[in-house]
Amino acid sequence: MAEAKQSLMKSMFRGDILEGLVFPYPTLDADEADMVKIIEDNLLKWARDNFDAGQADTEAKYPDGTLETLGEMGIFGLIIPEEYGGLGLSQTAYARIFESIAAIDGSLPVTLGGHSSIGMKGLLLYGTEEQKKKYLPDLATGKKLASFALTEPGSGSDAASIQTRAVRQDDGTWLLNGQKIWITNGGYAQFFTVFAKTAVEINGEMKDKITAFIVDGDLPGFTRGPEEHKMGIKATSTVPLYFDNVVLSPDSVLGEVGKGFGVAMHILNSGRLGLSAGVVGGAKAILEKVVKHTRERHQFGRPIEDFELIKEKVSRITVDIYVAESMVYLTAALADREGVDFSLESAICKVRASEMGWGMADDSLQIMGGLGYMKGYPFERVLRDTRINLIFEGTNEILRLFIALAGMEAPGEYLKQLGQALQGPIRGFGFLADYAFTRAKEAVTTPRLVKVHPSLERYAGYLTKYVEKFHKSVDSAIMKFGKRIIDRELMLQRFADCAIDFYGMLAVLSRATSRIEAVGEEAAKPELDIVRIYCEGAWRRVRRNLRQIRRHEDRPVRRLAAYVTQRQKYDFPT
Ligand SMILES: Cc1cc2nc3c(=O)[nH]c(=O)nc-3n(C[C@H](O)[C@H](O)[C@H](O)COP(=O)(O)OP(=O)(O)OC[C@H]3O[C@@H](n4cnc5c(N)ncnc54)[C@H](O)[C@@H]3O)c2cc1C
Repeated sequence: MAEAKQSLMKSMFRGDILEGLVFPYPTLDADEADMVKIIEDNLLKWARDNFDAGQADTEAKYPDGTLETLGEMGIFGLIIPEEYGGLGLSQTAYARIFESIAAIDGSLPVTLGGHSSIGMKGLLLYGTEEQKKKYLPDLATGKKLASFALTEPGSGSDAASIQTRAVRQDDGTWLLNGQKIWITNGGYAQFFTVFAKTAVEINGEMKDKITAFIVDGDLPGFTRGPEEHKMGIKATSTVPLYFDNVVLSPDSVLGEVGKGFGVAMHILNSGRLGLSAGVVGGAKAILEKVVKHTRERHQFGRPIEDFELIKEKVSRITVDIYVAESMVYLTAALADREGVDFSLESAICKVRASEMGWGMADDSLQIMGGLGYMKGYPFERVLRDTRINLIFEGTNEILRLFIALAGMEAPGEYLKQLGQALQGPIRGFGFLADYAFTRAKEAVTTPRLVKVHPSLERYAGYLTKYVEKFHKSVDSAIMKFGKRIIDRELMLQRFADCAIDFYGMLAVLSRATSRIEAVGEEAAKPELDIVRIYCEGAWRRVRRNLRQIRRHEDRPVRRLAAYVTQRQKYDFPT
């Protein structure tokens, strides 16, 4: 049996903190750092001379030659192994370059992410040697771009409900029929990872299961619809795809027949990480513009940077970027390690970074005042561009449910086994003894953090204290609700929000510890301020969320929503 992968956040749901996965805070490998620097310099120079983000937004397309130039710079082959013509970079290096691209414009990282993070990631993860040799060299140079095609008109968040179908023919080929919508890069991609239902025999019965396929862009019967008109990321291509009796060769299957849902989820783990790095890069670039303005703009005879309500926003944006950035680099390092499951961490990054991006865009626009609202300045565009991050690659609602439910899976399984053991005490004796031991251990131990710098002990104390409370609260919720917990979304959201804050606290504590060790406390003061501002807010949010597991207004919330939706309007006498 394959050994279970280590998971930092899943362990936290059981009350453990796997410190070894978090400390020391990861750094970029020196060889890769040089490569990243060269690519970043090239990108910035090219963008300065050749790319106008405002124009790309207005014209809803990139200037001619943009994608070709990015291809020549190696941008489309960043994570493709060198043997197939790519640069073979780690997830950490990829995240850094993603940041630089997003600092130029909001559309470019979506195009790159559609290609690398999700479009051809399935090929990297699950492709056979033949499939890799056939496609990766052209994907590495950008001669061909890739797309990930899951969403359909009737199937968005509920990805398992797709209707596109592939039927195996007697000669081993597959006949593909169906429709996809809103497919990034769809207008010009030549390589598609397409998900379709297929009939699979399970225990003598035929069942519908999803399978992932490679679909070439020029196959007969495959057509693309017109470009969507979008709110933001306007230069990206977003189109519907139609499959009308498309014949796929027997070797088009990616991974195993019937295992496509897992393929899609695995791909999205890395997609979410890239997306998060992009938001961080974009936010840093906007903060630079904002602080310039706060110094130059004078009101009441003073630069607006002097006013506390402006300082508060600048500080909030800074803290939020730092937290999201720390989470992204910690997660990238986890993704680069063997034997680590980073699915929860990348979902947490996506939620945290996308909400940081939205808050940052709002705060930045407010600091700019009326100027922020005007076209010709980037702030309204950034607000439009960044909004999509809360929706695609799993909406933040779905990801919060995923974080809570996937986190609870292990304690839930444990408690299920406990229930079985209680029904069959002799058979379950070993398990019961194990459970009793764990409980006894819990009764006397709180998770400990020994690697945090002593000056940060207070915040480490908050974390360990609340992880323990959290774990107990998770346990009792599972015992109380059992399977029905799936419908307790408001409660799950609270657990997810606790997990997000725990991960944020761990990430900043690890990063600040490394910083203090490198430069001393005095030089690390601004970072100590960040840790203080974030952790003081985080533990209070966690405390509130845990209290609201027991005392809440969920019932009236559900009732009121039902009242309004039943009447289909706002219906209160004035
Ligand atoms: C610009 C753009 C680019 C895209 N690119 C791609 C791409 O390249 N490939 C691809 O396959 N897809 C792509 N998508 C699709 C995207 O992934 C979906 O829009 C997303 O998964 C949400 O699905 P939906 O829009 O159908 O919303 P729905 O699933 O209809 O959800 C509507 C609302 O209900 C909420 N909701 C749904 N179920 C639950 C639940 N159980 N509990 C609580 N709340 C729930 C959602 O969070 C959301 O707020 C793209 C979309 C856009 C807009």
